[in-house]
Amino acid sequence: MRQLSEADRDAIRLAQDPQFARWLGQITATGGCAHPVHLSGSTTTRDALTGEILHHYDTRREPGERLSVRCRNRRATVCAPCSRLHAGDTFHLVRAGLLGGKTVPAAVCERPRLFVTLTAPSFGPVHRTGDRCRPRRDGGACEHGRPVGCGTVHAPADRLVGQPLCADCYDYPAHVLWHAHAGKLWDRFVIGVRRHLASSASLPQSRFPDHARLSFARVAEYQKRAAVHVHAVVRLDGPAGPDDEPPAWGTVDRLNDAVRASAHRVVVRTTYSPAVGELTLRWGSQVDARPLRADGHGPDDEAVAAYVAKYVTKGASETGAGTDHRLTAWQDIDSTPLTDHVRTLMRTCWRLGGLPEYAPLRLRAWAHTLGYRGHILTKSRAYSTTYAALRADRAEHRGHGEASGPDTVADAHWRYVGSGHTPGGALIAAGVAADLALNREIALEETRVVRRGPR
Ligand SMILES: [Zn+2]
Ligand SMILES: [Zn+2]
Ligand SMILES: [Zn+2]
Repeated sequence: MRQLSEADRDAIRLAQDPQFARWLGQITATGGCAHPVHLSGSTTTRDALTGEILHHYDTRREPGERLSVRCRNRRATVCAPCSRLHAGDTFHLVRAGLLGGKTVPAAVCERPRLFVTLTAPSFGPVHRTGDRCRPRRDGGACEHGRPVGCGTVHAPADRLVGQPLCADCYDYPAHVLWHAHAGKLWDRFVIGVRRHLASSASLPQSRFPDHARLSFARVAEYQKRAAVHVHAVVRLDGPAGPDDEPPAWGTVDRLNDAVRASAHRVVVRTTYSPAVGELTLRWGSQVDARPLRADGHGPDDEAVAAYVAKYVTKGASETGAGTDHRLTAWQDIDSTPLTDHVRTLMRTCWRLGGLPEYAPLRLRAWAHTLGYRGHILTKSRAYSTTYAALRADRAEHRGHGEASGPDTVADAHWRYVGSGHTPGGALIAAGVAADLALNREIALEETRVVRRGPR
């Protein structure tokens, strides 16, 4: 007979506990979260007028006198079930901005909408996949004596892909400073789109908000060369936002022209540094903007929402372009299991981060993400619903929202008492997560069949 592991024995101990059913209920409510947070306390809900107790919940009757809640980490490497939930919320959030739903009117699908991809510029030639990599007939060399061509057909998994042909020619300070200013470059891009739209309608720029409103949701993705690029859904509404029709001049073609013009024109100048000089940063010349059409031509809205949602579960570490945790010392960089290219980017962050002129960029604090400090998903206020609203919605569905309302007052006392699972608990939680994932897959397949209809 197989030897029982420590986790197996612990799982058996848990299953024999008289309160196991309730414990399993808690784990199921967290979706099988890998690192649940344990809380102790109570909530009393009273009628605001009479003071009568409508509902009382106390952890004293719970197993271990505590309640476990989700860790809510969005990263798949940290907690798979919570990252799936977060990706699902992102999908609904992006989808609602495209097709309506969750308080957003369905009419948004008739609005001019684009799926935009903006890239980083080149900081020097890197190895790439596809046909032969940078073929050169003359066999020239750079000033460091390295060949300027490659000629190999690289497999996508080849570690050379994304690495520079010559690390000494590659502009590492520009790459890191571009990351550090990518958020500002985006903000200026959005202002530029508004400005171009206003001038195409012969409006003074200051009057744009009286006529139209631009909304967006964007995600950042690390490419093979460890530079971030941006995918965004951009939508044009009337001045009041999603409930309002855009003006007659606000067509998808005008929006497309404005996006392209702004992406090609906006610049951010870096603070002068004696070591680096002053850099003029801009987007890469590859700008992709595809109309999302209500008539079903062009990329499907559902596919775009799923595509955007996929990226929020990935951080720099999943793409090999950084680590999960902040670096605390120069020596940390040497011990990271990353490519020389990524390590050189981290060292550049560390080095430039020590210069007083770059102090506001906090390059050392963001060395683990190569200087990029934007959130993975950013959206404008009027784009659609919020993560908080989606979470509240879910709590209502589970019945946690019962007995709360405008005429009630809640008295809550909670404290953190710990986190994580015992070895056996982790085993059971993983099983719960797997079951829930399977159920979801079956439900999804059923929806697909219903949507396609009988053939
Ligand atoms: Zn979790
Ligand atoms: Zn190559
Ligand atoms: Zn060189």
